[in-house]
Amino acid sequence: MSEIGDSSSMTDIIVRNVVSLREVVAGWRGKGYTIALVPTMGAIHVGHQSLIAQAKSRCDRVIASAFVNPIQFGENEDLEAYPANEEQDVKALSSVGTDLVFCPNRKDIYPEGFSTVVSISGLTAGLCGPFRPGHFDGVATVVAKLLLQSLPDIAVFGEKDYQQLLVIRQLVRDLNIPVDIVGAPIIREEDGLAMSSRNRYLSDKERLIAPKLYRTLQSVADSVIAKPDNCERICQLARAELLEKGFAAVDYVAVCDGETLVPLAAFTNRARIFGAARLGQARLIDNLPVS
Ligand code: AMP
Repeated sequence: MSEIGDSSSMTDIIVRNVVSLREVVAGWRGKGYTIALVPTMGAIHVGHQSLIAQAKSRCDRVIASAFVNPIQFGENEDLEAYPANEEQDVKALSSVGTDLVFCPNRKDIYPEGFSTVVSISGLTAGLCGPFRPGHFDGVATVVAKLLLQSLPDIAVFGEKDYQQLLVIRQLVRDLNIPVDIVGAPIIREEDGLAMSSRNRYLSDKERLIAPKLYRTLQSVADSVIAKPDNCERICQLARAELLEKGFAAVDYVAVCDGETLVPLAAFTNRARIFGAARLGQARLIDNLPVS
């Protein structure tokens, strides 16, 4: 069998259980290689591939996990419809130089009797937290497991899920997990829509409306610079504007501190704009710094 990391065959890079993952990682460590982890839920797109590129530029070997984590989905969310396709995903990950794709079974990650939850307070109180109860517990629990299973030097997460990125930073700080968390910029379609696996749910008509979320957040950024004391009113108008433009519901538009996620009444240079809105079957989220 060819050795993982020296192989050019796609199926050779798939690992399905923790014992095999640890064997490969131990082999790499024996050779003095540095290791990066990029957690994903599959349905790989260019945004995910950019994280692999970041990981590759910093470490000798890159592990991508592709696991649709059931415990981060709410009861009425899209767990069963989630669009991951293992063959296509492994192809897309290997084409950008991923050395190992970790595709565990649900039972390996959550065997019978599994009863631990990693729960992070504070950062999860606002933004997506109230709209997706239990979501960040599910994310923190699976990411803690993936980090402890692979013990990488770094792990790369997208700013697309900015609240998640901060939650993971808090997780590794609080639990003393020895890994550097690297944030990577949002990759967008030409019209500004942030790439997302869930964009596949959009109809042609909805796809034309979708980039208006980003454009609206950009105009919120311009407005809070022009009227720094008016954040709440500006966000209120933006929410109404999104509904007018065709979004079915707006979960939030908010100006928050980019480190604590505390909502800001007045603009500061740490401000970041966040939005989440529903369009057809999709729930879109986006964010941008105010510069
Ligand atoms: P997911 O498979 O949606 O759970 O995402 C896996 C990782 O890819 C997370 O760290 C996301 O933040 C990141 N990601 C998803 N979409 C993008 C994007 N458009 N640009 C950059 N990173 C992204």
